[in-house]
Amino acid sequence: MNDGIERVKAASDIVDVVSGYLTLRPAGKTFKAVCPFHDDSRPSLDVDPTRQRYRCWACGKYGDVISFVQEIERVDFSEAMDLLARRAGISWRDREDFLQSGARDRMLVAAAWAQRQFEDALWDRLLGSPSRDYLEKRGLDEDTLRRFGVGWAPGGGEWLVRKAREESIELEVLENIGLVGRQDGGGWYDRFRDRVQFPIRNPRGQPVGFGGRILPGSPAENRAPKYYNSADSAIFSKSEQLFGIDLAREAARQTGWLAIVEGYTDVLMAHQAGIMPVVATMGTALNARHLGQIRRHAQKVVLVYDSDAGGDAGVERALGLFARSDVDLTVASLPEGKDPCDWLLEAGTGPLRAALEGATDLMEFTIGRWFPEGIENRIEPMRRAVEKVMALLPEGKPGSTEDLKSELMIGRLSRRLGIPEESLRARRKELARSARAGQEGKAVVNAEEDATDRTRMEEIPQLERELVAVLLAHPGRVAEAAGRVAPEEFENPAARRLLLDLLDQLRAGDEPGIAGLRSRLSPGRLALALGLADMARGHSEPGRWLEDLLAGFERKRNREGRRQLQQRLQQVSRGGDHAAALELLRKVQDQAR
Ligand SMILES: [Zn+2]
Repeated sequence: MNDGIERVKAASDIVDVVSGYLTLRPAGKTFKAVCPFHDDSRPSLDVDPTRQRYRCWACGKYGDVISFVQEIERVDFSEAMDLLARRAGISWRDREDFLQSGARDRMLVAAAWAQRQFEDALWDRLLGSPSRDYLEKRGLDEDTLRRFGVGWAPGGGEWLVRKAREESIELEVLENIGLVGRQDGGGWYDRFRDRVQFPIRNPRGQPVGFGGRILPGSPAENRAPKYYNSADSAIFSKSEQLFGIDLAREAARQTGWLAIVEGYTDVLMAHQAGIMPVVATMGTALNARHLGQIRRHAQKVVLVYDSDAGGDAGVERALGLFARSDVDLTVASLPEGKDPCDWLLEAGTGPLRAALEGATDLMEFTIGRWFPEGIENRIEPMRRAVEKVMALLPEGKPGSTEDLKSELMIGRLSRRLGIPEESLRARRKELARSARAGQEGKAVVNAEEDATDRTRMEEIPQLERELVAVLLAHPGRVAEAAGRVAPEEFENPAARRLLLDLLDQLRAGDEPGIAGLRSRLSPGRLALALGLADMARGHSEPGRWLEDLLAGFERKRNREGRRQLQQRLQQVSRGGDHAAALELLRKVQDQAR
C-alpha cells in the first residue's frame, strides 16, 4: 500500500491541488491564501511547493496534500486517497488489492493441499492406523470421516515441512496459515504433531484452518495441549468460524434451526446420525459475530446446554445476546454429564433429535433455571436473580427488537414472581444508569485523545520531541530505539502515542513510518507527525543524534532512580533503622558511579 500512497502523492502537486479549492497568490518561494480552516480575511495560509506542505500561521493547521484534502473535504484518509487518485488518473488500490487477493488465494490453495496430506496420512494403511483406531473407537465411520475431510498429522516434527519441500509448496504460506513455524536457528518445524486433524472449512467448503486433537497415548500427550487450533489468519477467524457450517447450512435452511454443540466429534456424530443442522464454535463462547453468520442460514439457534460447570455462564451470555439479536435463541438440555456424542452412542438418534427439535425458548429456560419453584418466598436469592436478569436486558428505543424482547421478559418475570412490571422496569433503568456511570471513565480517555489531537510540537519536552522526530524521519532506526526507551517514560501523551504506534508497527512486522500509520492517525496527530519528521529530516548524522537522545533518556532514568533512593534513605534514617539506611546508602553511591 505504501507504494500506492507514494505514487498518488508524487502525482498530486500540493499547489495544483490546493489551487483547485482556493485562490493562491505567489509570495516569494511560497504561495499564500485565505485559510479555509478558520474564520479570517487575511491570507494566513502558506503553501510551500518545495516541501509540499501547507501551514496556517493563525490556526496552526499543517500537513501535506493528502491531509489537506482530508480536512477540506471532511473525508477520511482512504477517501482522500481515492479523490486524489481519481484526479491524477491512477489507481492506488489496484496493486494492493491484487497482492492481497493473490495472498489469500495462495493461502486457500496451501490449506487445501495440507488438508489432502493429512487425510491421505490418516488412510495410509501403515502410517495412520493409531489415529484410525482412535476414531473408530469413538464410533465414527469412514464415510463420516471422509465427508468432513478428517486427517492425521504424524509426529516427528518435520513431516509436513518435508512434504511441502517435495511438492514445492511455499513454507512462508504454510507459516501464514499457522501450520509450520520457524526454528530459532533457521529451518522449519510442524506446528501440528501426532494429532487428529479436523479441517475447519468456510461455508463454501474450503479449508481455512485446522483443529488438532492430540492422539491419546502419544508421547507428546503430557507436554502438549489436548486441542490446538491454527492461529487466526487472513482466511481464518476463530471467533467467527463455525465448524461444520459447510455441511450443515443446507439442512439449517430447510429446518429453520441450527444447533451449536461444543466438540468436533459431537458435530461428526450428529451428522452421522442424520441430524444435520449441527455446528460447533471454535472453543469460544457464542458471540454476536456467530449470530451474524448463523442468521444467513437459519432463524433459530439451539444451544445445547451442558449442565455441568460453565453452563450457567453460557446461558447468561446467551441472554445478553438474545435481547440484542433478531435471531431466536432456544436451549436444549442434555441429561447430566452427557455430551451429544455419548448420548447418541448410548441412546440412539431419537432422544437427541427430540431434544433439539423441542428446545425451550431461552426466556422460559432462564426463568425455569434461575427462578426455581419457591424462590418467590426467599427474598435474597430472588433479589439476586432479578438483578442478574435485569442487568442483562438492554434498554432499546420503544418498538425496537431490544425493547420488545426486554418487555417480553419483564412481563413473564412479573407474572412468575408476582412483582409489578413497573418495579422491574425501574430497577432495570437504575442498573443501566450505573452501568453508564461506569463508562464515564472512558470519557476521560477521550478527553486525553482530544488533547493529543491538538498538541503542538513546542509543548513536547525537548528530549521526547527530538526522539520521536528522529524516528519518524528515519523509521529504519525504530528497531535501534526499541527496548532502550519505553513509552511510559514519556510525559507528553501525544509523543507517547506516536512512539507506541511506531513500536506497534515494528512488533507487527510492518515497516515503521508515517506512510503505514496514515490510516490510523487523526488529522491533528498526522500534522504533528509530519511536522516532527520534517524537523528532523535535515540532520546530517541521525545515528549519532539518536544515540545522544537515548543516552539522555538513560541519564534521566538514573537521575529518577537516585532521587527515589535518596527519598527512601531519608525516610529510613528518620525511622532509625541504621542497617537499612546503610544498605540504601551503598545503592545510592553505586548508582552515582
Ligand atoms: Zn487557519
